[in-house]
Amino acid sequence: MSVDLNALKTPAPTITALTQPFWDAAAQGRLKIQHCEDCDKAVFYPRSICPHCWSTRLAWRDASGRGRLKSFSQVHKPGHPGWLPAAPYVVGLVELAEGPTMLSFILPGARPPHVGDALMLAPTAIGGRVLPAFKSVETATEEKPQ
Ligand SMILES: [Zn+2]
Repeated sequence: MSVDLNALKTPAPTITALTQPFWDAAAQGRLKIQHCEDCDKAVFYPRSICPHCWSTRLAWRDASGRGRLKSFSQVHKPGHPGWLPAAPYVVGLVELAEGPTMLSFILPGARPPHVGDALMLAPTAIGGRVLPAFKSVETATEEKPQ
């Protein structure tokens, strides 16, 4: 994939009062998820009630940015034409170290993705906004400057 992801004409996220902290953090290259102050579990996607204990005491915290690839798909025919120049590309289900699973863009690595790959957060400018993409830890090591 040699396309400039930031030049893509992809649709913008729908930002609500509930999801605003997530998108504000994403724009700063961070990944924030909710944390339940009653049952101590992490929560994603953003909600007003904890899915584990029904508490409304959810606070935003920075996630570690570490995760594991639970499943993935190589997209050849995007659901929106704005993604066509980047196809084929990989989207994956990332099991965050904190517990929740999130769908994310997976950056190309030195080898094709495999279920179980260790991933790390790799904030990436896509379509004019920074989004919380992920890349394999092996890729991150190989891309370190000498
Ligand atoms: Zn809870």
